[in-house]
Amino acid sequence: MWSTDIDPASELGQFGLTAPTPLDLELALESERSSGRGQPGILLLDDDPFMLGMQSRMLRNMGYLKISTAGSAEAALMLLQQQVPHHVDVIVCDLNMPGVDGIEFLQRLNRGSFRGNVILLSGEGARIMHTVQKLLDGSRLVILGALEKPAERGALRALLDCWQPPVPTVPQRPVATYTREDLHVAQSERQWVLHYQPKVDVCSGALTGMEALVRWMHPQHGLVPPDRFIALAEGCGAIDALTDWVLQQAMNQVASWQRDGLKIQVAVNVSMESLRTPHFARRVGELAQHSCAAPQDVILEITESRLMSSSPAPLENLVRLRMQRFGLSIDDFGTGHSSLTQLRDVPFTELKVDRGFVQGARNNQIIRPMLEGSIGLAKRLGMKSVAEGVETVDDWRLLREIGCDFAQGWFIGRPMASEQIPAWLEQWQSRAPSLVDA
Ligand code: C2E
Ligand code: MG
Ligand code: MG
Repeated sequence: MWSTDIDPASELGQFGLTAPTPLDLELALESERSSGRGQPGILLLDDDPFMLGMQSRMLRNMGYLKISTAGSAEAALMLLQQQVPHHVDVIVCDLNMPGVDGIEFLQRLNRGSFRGNVILLSGEGARIMHTVQKLLDGSRLVILGALEKPAERGALRALLDCWQPPVPTVPQRPVATYTREDLHVAQSERQWVLHYQPKVDVCSGALTGMEALVRWMHPQHGLVPPDRFIALAEGCGAIDALTDWVLQQAMNQVASWQRDGLKIQVAVNVSMESLRTPHFARRVGELAQHSCAAPQDVILEITESRLMSSSPAPLENLVRLRMQRFGLSIDDFGTGHSSLTQLRDVPFTELKVDRGFVQGARNNQIIRPMLEGSIGLAKRLGMKSVAEGVETVDDWRLLREIGCDFAQGWFIGRPMASEQIPAWLEQWQSRAPSLVDA
C-alpha cells in the first residue's frame, strides 16, 4: 500500500523499480480476486440444508471463494475454534434454530474471542431482526445488517461490501471523571466555549439557524464534550449558572449575526433543572433585552425525557417563554417515554426528531415509518420539523422526499467555533445547489 503523501514512482525509484502501469494493477487485482485474497472468509450458519446449499451456491456465483457452512450453532462454534478450512471474517447467521438458537449463538460468540462481522438472515420478519440487532448493540460484534430469507443477491453483496479487514485496536486513554469542585472552577475561570452547528432548510438549502453546543475547554484534557459534564452540573446545582452563561453568549452572538446581515436564529439547549427554577422565563427575557436579541430569533431546545415532573414550574416557565415569543423545540423526539404527552401539553413550535430515527431510515422498514409519522405529526400540529444527525446523502434525500422542514447533521456541517462559520458557509453555498436540484 502506498503512503498517501509520497509519490509511488519516486518511492519505487530509489529501489531501482518502476511504478506499475494501470494494466499491471488490473492484473494484480484479477489475481487477487481469483485467489480469494482480500475477500472475507464467510461462514454460513443455518439448520436448513436446502438453504445452506442455495446460499453457498449463490455466494460462489458472486465470486466469493472462502465459504464454510455449519448446520447448527454447535458445529459453527467448533469450526470457529479450529478456523478450518478458512479463517472466518463474516458469519451469515440464521436466528431460528433448534437447540442453541441464533441469539444464544451470537451471545456466546460475543463472550468468546471472535471479532469478525455478522449478517443476520432470517425468515422471522423485520421487527424481530431489529430487536435482535438492538440486543447486540452494546456487544463487541459488528452487525453489518439484517436480511430477510431468502437473501437477495444485491442486498447480500451490499452488506458484504461493508466488511473491512480488522485493524489492530489502539489502547484508549482512560476517561477522566469530574467532581462538582472541578465544575465550580470551570465556571469561575470561564472555561466554557460554545460551538455552533448549522441548521438548514431542506427545500431551499438556505442556512436558517445555528444550535449552540457547549464544550469545556479543560486546561489539561482539552475540549470536553457536554455528555461528560451536563448531568453532573444538573445534579450539583451548577447547571443554572452554566445555562445563564450559554444563553448570554448565544444571544449576543445572534444579535451580532443579525447586525452583520446574517438573518438566522440561534438554538440553546435548556436543561429541565433550569425550567424548574422559578422566574426562569423572566430571566431569559431580561437576557434577550440586554443583548438586543429578538425572542423570535431564539429557540430553546428541551429534551423531553426529563420534562415530566410533579411540579407545575416547568410548564409555567414554558408557557411564559412562549408568550414572550421565544421558540420552543422538543429535542430528541422519540426517545424517553412520554413524547406524545409532552407534545400534547407544551406549546412547542418545533419538533426535532432524534437521530436514531433519521440515520439509515431510507432502507429501514421500522424507523422509516416512524420518521415519516413524526414529521406528519409536526405538520398536523402546525409545528416545524427538524431532523438531526443527518450523516449521508441518502438521509438528506429521504428528508426532501418526505417533506421535513429543516435538517442538521455532519452531512451538512459539524459543530464549529464561530470563527469557522464564514468558511463553512461559503463551502455550503457552493455545495447546496446540487443538493436541492430536482
Ligand atoms: P443535542 O441537543 O441533541 O445535540 C446534538 C448532538 O449530536 C451534539 O452532540 C452534536 O454534536 C451531535 N451531532 C450533530 N450532528 C450529528 C451527526 O450527524 N451524527 C452524530 N453521530 N452526532 C451528531 P454534543 O455537542 O456532544 O451534545 C450532546 C448533548 O449535550 C446535546 O444533545 C444536548 O442535549 C447537550 N448539550 C449541549 N450543549 C448544552 C447546553 O448548553 N446546555 C445543556 N443543558 N445541554 C447541552
Ligand atoms: Mg439540541
Ligand atoms: Mg437532539
